[in-house]
Amino acid sequence: TLEKILFATDGSEGAARAGGVAADLAKRTGAGLYVVHAWQFVPHPVVVDLRSWEERAGRLLTEQVEEIEGAGGEVAASYLRMGSPVDEILDTAEEVGADLVVMGSRGFGRIRSLLIGSVSEGVVHSAHLPVLVVR
Ligand code: ATP
Ligand code: MG
Ligand code: MG
Repeated sequence: TLEKILFATDGSEGAARAGGVAADLAKRTGAGLYVVHAWQFVPHPVVVDLRSWEERAGRLLTEQVEEIEGAGGEVAASYLRMGSPVDEILDTAEEVGADLVVMGSRGFGRIRSLLIGSVSEGVVHSAHLPVLVVR
């Protein structure tokens, strides 16, 4: 049975659609909904400190949770992780004991010729649990 659903988000429109599906699934099945966002420090010509990157990622995650709750959904817990998104999503799924990962097919990436983005692809490739990629 579906007890824990992990929704992975990068704050993109594609992820938001997946979040809607995840919240709906959680509501219908009574499963707990968990949300994860992974962030990475990318060196930038305009000096930005690590702290403000983390804060920005934290706000993104908070906004995602608020969006789900604003639409009547319920979030059991949210996870802000630093590192490679694929690894962090899979590590979080294991930590939470998730039965299903829900994610978008696309994120903020701009290479539209690919069917799915590299994060979705990597998670589907390495996951030891079911993954729902929402298009
Ligand atoms: P790419 O990043 O390969 O250029 P893309 O941005 O279009 O392409 P992905 O990054 O694979 O595609 O995004 C697909 C989905 O993966 C998103 O809708 C979101 O659900 C999830 N995702 C992407 N990045 C993260 C992240 N940093 N943290 C959590 N989930 C993420
Ligand atoms: Mg890790
Ligand atoms: Mg991406």
